Amino acid sequence: MPYSKQLERMGISPAVYAFCCAVEDELADRYRKLDHILENNQLKVLEAMQQHQIAERHFESSTGYGYNDDGRDALEAVYASVFGTEDALVRPQMISGTHALSTALFACLRPGDEVVFATGLPYDTLQGVVGIRPEKGSLAEFNVTYKIVELGEDGMPDLEAIRAAITEKTKMVAMQRSKGYSFRHSFSVEELGEVIRVVKEAKPDVITMVDNCYGEFTQEIEPPQVGADLTVGSLIKNPGGGLAPIGGYICGPTELVELCAVRLTTPGIGKEAGATLGVNRSLYQGFFLSPQVTNSAVKTAMLAASVFNKLGYATSPAADEDHYDIVEAIALEKPEGVLAFCRGIQWAAPVDSNVTPEPWDMPGYDCPVIMAAGAFISGSSIELSADGPMKPPYIVYFQGGLTYSHGRYGIMKALQEMVNDGLVKFE
Ligand SMILES: *Cc1c(COP(=O)(O)O)cnc(C)c1O
Repeated sequence: MPYSKQLERMGISPAVYAFCCAVEDELADRYRKLDHILENNQLKVLEAMQQHQIAERHFESSTGYGYNDDGRDALEAVYASVFGTEDALVRPQMISGTHALSTALFACLRPGDEVVFATGLPYDTLQGVVGIRPEKGSLAEFNVTYKIVELGEDGMPDLEAIRAAITEKTKMVAMQRSKGYSFRHSFSVEELGEVIRVVKEAKPDVITMVDNCYGEFTQEIEPPQVGADLTVGSLIKNPGGGLAPIGGYICGPTELVELCAVRLTTPGIGKEAGATLGVNRSLYQGFFLSPQVTNSAVKTAMLAASVFNKLGYATSPAADEDHYDIVEAIALEKPEGVLAFCRGIQWAAPVDSNVTPEPWDMPGYDCPVIMAAGAFISGSSIELSADGPMKPPYIVYFQGGLTYSHGRYGIMKALQEMVNDGLVKFE
């Protein structure tokens, strides 16, 4: 597309536009591969919805106890079909990804049990759940212990160390697909499959759990296809498609999903109750759109990797690496870089575009953090957003984009702010 008056009005210079378009042109083949993944995932979701004969009545709402909520039950059947598991728990009562993961951990672990984290330190909020960081009510208070197996020097799971960490006490081995907010490689489903193979060889009855946040629909297969027992995630990330206003999911075998259900509600009630309060339609429609929305977000991440790599910044994944989640980490080297980048993302948003993000002391972080998000759903990170802890090497974690057009504009706007501040120069 040629440069336009519209772009000029929206603050993008001809130089920034031309640079980003040239980078984008080189990505055509890789975008085609992503479209192939999209095609497969879209049909997978469509087939599941047809197979379970989703109909208007499934969009109805329930209140109170929520008994006989067909829409809720059928949605869980659709998730189970798409992920290839016996059963699923998909609930607005799971308030976040952390809550879904916490539910699965507390459901499976009993006093005296141990959980092994096979892909290094788990996501920040989970550290409190486990008691790696002391918190009231953590698993540690219930005499559940943990081990963290650091990644190998090559950044990959250390299979030998994982094997060695498994003992009689080991009840669960947990893995994290996405880098989350660390500057590491995100693991492909196949790479997690290797971990699962080693774990099952060492102790067949260990429960394997994958934190699937940010990973859904970035590949043609999901963790259950390589033997993961529990696959867990958030509906305000990929599988909510930007429409789900709340929720989490847990997919797995009937027996384990039942354990999770009785932990989420109560023993004796399990999956039978839980009103959906009018969200069913959004959860279905969002799940239907999710492969497309995830495709937009991965293309956005890929473009960001190429643009910022070409400008000399380190990124993870790098420009030539495959993307196994929607997160792009960019080391901007200077605090001014993070401020300008996040300002650009905020000013590119459809909501709250008139505010300027500033770093603040967020609970649970050891330095101020800046966050840019102008989202329809509060805190939704499938929508275009960026977060940066204000410490060297000044990495910004950038993710989302409900549409690719918006994602690419966000990148241009972020780059433009860096140019305007004299941090990046074009000849
Ligand atoms: C986002 C995320 C979580 C936690 O999800 P919330 O919905 O923010 O609680 C856990 N693990 C990973 C890898 C994530 O990206």
